[in-house]
Amino acid sequence: MLYDAVVIGAGPAGITAALYLVRSGVSVALVENAAPGGQILSTAEIENYPGFPKSIKGWELADLFDAHLASYPVARIRGQVVSVRQAEGHLFTLELSEGESLEARAVVVCSGAYHRKLGVPGEEAFSGRGVSYCAVCDGNFYRGRDVVVVGGGNSALEEALYLSRIVNKVYLVHRRDSFRGAMIYQEKVRQTENIELVTGSVVDEIRGGDAGMDSVIVRHLESGDIRVVPADGIFIYVGMEPVTGYLPEQINRDAAGFILTDAEMCTSVPGIFAAGDVRSKRCRQVSTAVGDGATAATAASSYLEQRNA
Ligand code: NAP
Repeated sequence: MLYDAVVIGAGPAGITAALYLVRSGVSVALVENAAPGGQILSTAEIENYPGFPKSIKGWELADLFDAHLASYPVARIRGQVVSVRQAEGHLFTLELSEGESLEARAVVVCSGAYHRKLGVPGEEAFSGRGVSYCAVCDGNFYRGRDVVVVGGGNSALEEALYLSRIVNKVYLVHRRDSFRGAMIYQEKVRQTENIELVTGSVVDEIRGGDAGMDSVIVRHLESGDIRVVPADGIFIYVGMEPVTGYLPEQINRDAAGFILTDAEMCTSVPGIFAAGDVRSKRCRQVSTAVGDGATAATAASSYLEQRNA
């Protein structure tokens, strides 16, 4: 099946790109690997997306985005894109995991990024039995118990705050003494009684038994002191990896693998655009993903117009 534009990924960037493209009058398919919403589905409260002064739950915003797109004729295709190849006559062929393939005149890559692993002993073994990357999904299992959160970015700070309202105690382990997350979250974390900051420290191991994990071995980097932190859960937020493995090598990326674009969201391959967390940039927010999606769609639609002229 040939579409003018295929958008890959149904997070805020992908949904916005599909919305702008379909409204510009071109045929659009949106390939969605998971439920619409992307990472906002695993965000408890979104406090900084304009229009929701009392904050909005991640899944509620995802539902609203999805409902907005539902009133437009966008082909919603369930699946995972496993390759994008340049075909004859400026067309792209996208292969899906189920063996299906699509053709597109333009491609908008909005496949996002996923949470990086810590890579310590016990992380794999206790995955789903204490080790989690999503406080919103799993936090309730630890009601009234003690947990560790690892990281010093916005995700770690936000999710430590979220968990502090559910669990008995949160140990926030961060490798430096200062945090890179926003000051407003740092202040809230410092003011929260049941969050203990364990800074300048790293996790060496996650330990436990048949019933699941029961402790985290934490090492202070300067002194080398080892502390056994008793905890039933550990929530790991040590950064993101972009989802780009299925894309052609000719698309330029930064050192961490995020896609380089110009201000119009054009990649180094004409006809391929990128938007949202998959893109190399400093600020990864719902608002910036939405902005990227609108910009990429506008650029893709002018590209299509020029090709048709
Ligand atoms: P991030 O900002 O890259 O922070 C990752 C944190 O993990 C850093 O504090 C880093 O330490 C630490 N870290 C990295 N590798 C580690 C390792 N091997 N061992 C221990 N610690 C390690 O990632 P993020 O918090 O997931 O956020 C990703 C993006 O989404 C960011 O751009 C963020 O601003 C955005 N975001 C925004 C919001 C919001 O504003 N509402 C919410 C969530 C995420 P160092 O600080 O020492 O490097």
